[in-house]
Amino acid sequence: MSKYKTKIGLEMHCEISETKTKVFSSAANSYSSIPNSNIRPVDMAFPGILPVVNKEAVRMALMTSMVLNCSQPEYMYFERKNYYYPDLPKGFQLTQETKPIPVGIYGKVVFECNGEEKTVRVNNLHLEEDAASSDHLYDITTIDYNRAGVPLLELVTEPDLHSADEAVAFLEHMRSVYQYLNISEADSKKGQIRCDVNVSIMDSDLDEEDPNNWGTKIEIKNVNSFGGVRDAINYEIKRQTKLKENGTYDDMEQQTRRWDEESGTTIAMRSKVDAVDYKYFVEPNIPKFKISKEWLNEIRKNIPELAYDRKKKYMNEYGLSEYDSNILVKEKDISDYFEKSISIGTDVKQAANWVNGMILSYLNYNEISIKDFFMTPEMLKELIDLIESKTISSKQGKDVFYKCLEDKKDPKQVVKDEGMMQITDENQIMDIVKEVINENLEQARTFDPQNPKALDYFIGQVMKKTRGKANPSIASKLMRAELEKIVSE
Ligand code: ADP
Ligand code: MG
Repeated sequence: MSKYKTKIGLEMHCEISETKTKVFSSAANSYSSIPNSNIRPVDMAFPGILPVVNKEAVRMALMTSMVLNCSQPEYMYFERKNYYYPDLPKGFQLTQETKPIPVGIYGKVVFECNGEEKTVRVNNLHLEEDAASSDHLYDITTIDYNRAGVPLLELVTEPDLHSADEAVAFLEHMRSVYQYLNISEADSKKGQIRCDVNVSIMDSDLDEEDPNNWGTKIEIKNVNSFGGVRDAINYEIKRQTKLKENGTYDDMEQQTRRWDEESGTTIAMRSKVDAVDYKYFVEPNIPKFKISKEWLNEIRKNIPELAYDRKKKYMNEYGLSEYDSNILVKEKDISDYFEKSISIGTDVKQAANWVNGMILSYLNYNEISIKDFFMTPEMLKELIDLIESKTISSKQGKDVFYKCLEDKKDPKQVVKDEGMMQITDENQIMDIVKEVINENLEQARTFDPQNPKALDYFIGQVMKKTRGKANPSIASKLMRAELEKIVSE
């Protein structure tokens, strides 16, 4: 056992991307469009503005709260977190961080890490608005206010995670939850997921349940990728272990650091002693509102199937392996594609093989999302049917797959245009078999049924004549029968 135990608590921010509008204004929730095109006076803090709470964002937040096994509030309100920054035109962010009862409190999440079940307690989940986004280019900074007011969920865990692996597995689990709930694409590449990572180490022989034994919390702000979270934690563990070893750990103050991707290190920003005072107070323009029991029940009834449920279904009802099921449910869009395929009658095992094999490798290799994938579930079914009906061989199936994607044609069209139709008509194949035997009479008379190579030669000739289109098993069956007849005569 190692001398020290790591404790990690995460503050995970996830943008809600699936509401039509922002959380307090009627501007479109779509900040990837032309910069500064989705803005309303509310987002820009013009005088006299009044925020209006987006009910759909609250519904999504409450649904997440339920899935996290949190308690939901009876009343909801928001508060102002005051600070100045160019990306925050109002001079405050509307959030639910301190006094108000957040959208969720005291929950727990069970997730899998390297095949083991782990539990992390949730301190709270709150709904807030995102700030604008700024881009620093050489000596100028551009600001895009499209992001100002985008709904944001912040999930704060207790420090129950113990390694970089656990932290990343938890984040992956939550990303999947947000996707399956149809709340967010939860794409860290688009900046939709951002994390503050809190790390400390303690002596392993002390009782972890007692917070007095915990080490000093170091907060790493705004880590933007799961890889960054992993590297930042591992770096911090090393750095803090060194401080323990040289006896300076206990003098350390609580500190906020930032992750520097380039150097692969964390850099001190400020000590908690000079922490910013945000002077929180309740937002007076949003009256406290009641969350009715009926609405909560309604939301609970409509919680969509999560990855875990689909995985169980794939294993228990469809008879797929755990390995295949895990791959299929990892990304919701992939799983949706698979579900659509099944719903139109595609063979389950074939669909799973194609999705997990050819399709995923094609998508990964070409770095495209399944949403932009040319081959629809209907086309995949067509391709599988062509193989099942022996119209084409499974080897040809792969060629058809690539040709479809390359030429943007459906499988039937490709098979037709390329003249790939297999010959399965026994009479037609028999004619060719006889032709080949007549042309090789000497060899046919000395045919040795025990020598597999001898048959291969004749089949090869049939394939040559049909340009590979004769169905190999029919050709082989007919050829063997004919040759044996000649030898026994
Ligand atoms: P603050 O008051 O500084 O915001 P909180 O107690 O609210 O701190 O915790 C913020 C985050 O830090 C939570 O995710 C929590 O789990 C985590 N955390 C608290 N104490 C520790 C610790 N000793 N080690 C690691 N993480 C911690
Ligand atoms: Mg916050």
